[in-house]
Amino acid sequence: MIDSPQVPLDEKRLLELLNNHWHFESFREQQKPPVFSLASGKDTLAVLPTGGGKSLCYQISGLYRGGICLVISPLVALMQDQVEGLKEKGLNAISLAGNLNYRTIERLLDNAERLPCCFLYCSPERLHHPLLKSRLQRLPIRTIVVDEAHCISQWGHDFRPEYRMVSSLRDQCPGAAWGAFTATATQNVLKDIEVQLKLDAAGVFEFPMQRANLIYSVFTSGDAEKELLLALKRSRGSGLLYVASRSEAEFWSDRMRQIGIQSSAYHAGIPAPERLKIQTSWMTGDYRVLACTSAFGMGIDKPDVRFVFHASPPQDLESYVQEAGRAGRDGEPSLCMLFMNRNSLDLSRKKLEQKAPDLRAIQKVYQGLANQGSVPVGARPEEPTIFDADLWLKGSEMRHFDWNLSMNYLNRSGYISSDRLDDGERFEIALRESLTESSLEGNPTAIRMRSALSDWFRTHESNAIVPIQSLKQSSGMTAHQCRIELDRLKKWGFIESRRLPPLYQIEWIRPREEAKNVILPQSLMVDWVQSLEAKWEAFSAYAASTNCRQQIIQRYFSGDEVQACENCDNCMKANESWAREKWLIAIPEQGLEIVQLANRVPVRYKSVLFHFLDLWAESNEIEVVNRTIYRN
Ligand code: ADP
Ligand code: MG
Repeated sequence: MIDSPQVPLDEKRLLELLNNHWHFESFREQQKPPVFSLASGKDTLAVLPTGGGKSLCYQISGLYRGGICLVISPLVALMQDQVEGLKEKGLNAISLAGNLNYRTIERLLDNAERLPCCFLYCSPERLHHPLLKSRLQRLPIRTIVVDEAHCISQWGHDFRPEYRMVSSLRDQCPGAAWGAFTATATQNVLKDIEVQLKLDAAGVFEFPMQRANLIYSVFTSGDAEKELLLALKRSRGSGLLYVASRSEAEFWSDRMRQIGIQSSAYHAGIPAPERLKIQTSWMTGDYRVLACTSAFGMGIDKPDVRFVFHASPPQDLESYVQEAGRAGRDGEPSLCMLFMNRNSLDLSRKKLEQKAPDLRAIQKVYQGLANQGSVPVGARPEEPTIFDADLWLKGSEMRHFDWNLSMNYLNRSGYISSDRLDDGERFEIALRESLTESSLEGNPTAIRMRSALSDWFRTHESNAIVPIQSLKQSSGMTAHQCRIELDRLKKWGFIESRRLPPLYQIEWIRPREEAKNVILPQSLMVDWVQSLEAKWEAFSAYAASTNCRQQIIQRYFSGDEVQACENCDNCMKANESWAREKWLIAIPEQGLEIVQLANRVPVRYKSVLFHFLDLWAESNEIEVVNRTIYRN
C-alpha cells in the first residue's frame, strides 16, 4: 500500500483558508483535532454532535490537501446545497447526484479531472456506475470523505447497504486519506465503521454528545394527545413534532392548524419537490411547526428550533437523540419532550416484533420484482428495471407494510437497490368535456394546461396515463403548478384525474436468483433482530428511568459519566426545595384546585408537579379533597 504522505501541518495556511473562503475567525474547539488529523493525511474518524460543523471539517481538509475531495453522502437532496455553498466560497464543486445520463456524468468527470482542486459529491449508489468505476483510478483523488458514516454499520440506526460499496474505493484510490464523520455512534458502531471502511490507524475523535442547552423530558399520561396539544398551544418559536406514520403527520398538522399554528405535514409520501418546498417554508418561518415522520431532518441546519416534541416513542435511542438534537443548535435553551401513553412502550414492542424478517414474503416480493422487470434467472440487467408496487400489491394480498419491509430486507442483504422515482409521478386522466379555450377564458395557466393536455391526447387515447414530466415540458410550468391546474380542470368538470402511486427503480446488484434460493445472511436473520431488541430495551430504559436524562444518553453513547444536567424532568424531580418554594408554599389557606395549579405550570413541569404532589400527600404535608389541595 502506498503511504499517504503525511506532511507537517501548516496551521497558518489552514487559518488563511478558513478566513478567506468561509470568513470564520477560528475553528471551533471540537473541529481542530479532526481537521488537523485529516489535513495532515491521516485517516480520521470523528463524532461531532449535530450542528457541530462537520462539513467544514472535511471541506477545509480536502481543500488544504488539494486534488479531488470525494464526498460520499446519503443525503442526495442536500448535496446540491452543499455544492452551491462551496461555489459561493469560490471553490470548485460538482454533484454527481440525481438522474444524470451517461454523457453528463462523463462531462462532469472531465471537469473534475481538469480542475486543480475540486469537491466531488456522490451518493453511495453512484459508485456502482460503470463510468465512475472505470474513471476512478485516473482521477487525482486525495481525500475521501464519508459523511453520516454510521450508515455503514448494521448496528447503526440508519444502515444503508449501498454504503458497504464504499470500502472498495480503498483499492481504487490507494493514496487517499479517509475522513469519516457522524453525529451519533455507540462504541460498537464506531468500531464497526473502522472495520468496514478499513480505516488505517485512524485518529478517532469523539466529542461529548451532551448539549447542555437541551432540556429533556418524558411525559407519560393517560391522555398524551391532550397534553401534547396543550404543549403545542403554549409553545413559542419554531419546532418539530415527530410522529410515527404518514397519517399521524397529516392528523397532527390538521390539529395544529385548527388551533392557529402555521404548520404542515412532512413525510415520504409527499413528492420530493413539494417536500423541499415544505422544508424551505419551515426554514424561513412561514410554517412554525412541522408534523413529520423520521423522513425529515438529516442534515438540516436551522439554528433556532426551540422545541422537538415526539408524539410517540421513536424506534431507538439513536433516532431519538438525533431527532431531538435538531433543537437548539444556536445554543439557546430548547425543549425535547417525549409524550407517551401508558401503553406506548407495549405498542412499540409489538411494532418491533412485526419488523422481523419473513422469508416467504421476501421471496414473493423478489419474484414480483423479477416478473415485472422481465429479469430471467442468472441475468443482471445493466439498467435498472421499473416496478409498479401498486399494481403488484393489488394482485398479491400483501399489506403495504409487509411489502415495504421485505423490500428493505432485499436492499439490506444486497440483492437489489431500490429507489422511488419521484420524477415518475403520473396521473390517470380522462377527458370529459371538450376543452375549448373560450371555456377557460381569463385563466392563462388553465389555458396552458389545456394545450399541454391537447398535445398529449392528440397522440394518445382519451383515457391515458400521463407522466407529469410531459405536462411540465409542454406547459412550461412547475410540477406544483401542474397539479394545481389539473385539480382546477377536474373541479370544473373538464377532466377526471387521479394521481397514481409512485414507481420504483430497481437496480440488480446480484444476478437474479430463483426466488426460493433467496436467503438472508445470519447477520440479518438473527443478529439484526437481536440488535433491534437491545436497542428497544435501551430506549424503554431511557423512557422509564428516574435518572438524569443527559447522563443516560451520554453513558449509552460513550460510556462516559457526566454531571447531572439539573434541567431535565428527572433532575427537577430530585430538587425538592425548588418545588417546595415554587408550589407548596404557594398553596393558599383556602386550598387550590389541582387543575388550576396544573394549568399554571409549564407543560414540561407537569409531571414534576404530579410527582411532588404524590410525595407530599404521602408525607401528609398536603391533603387532597375533591380534587382540591390543602396544606396541612
Ligand atoms: P453538522 O454537519 O455537524 O451537523 P454543519 O456542518 O451543517 O453541522 O454546520 C453547522 C453550522 O455551523 C453551519 O451553519 C456552519 O456554517 C457553522 N460553522 C461551522 N464551523 C464554524 C466555525 N468554525 N465558526 C462559525 N460557524 C461555523
Ligand atoms: Mg452534516
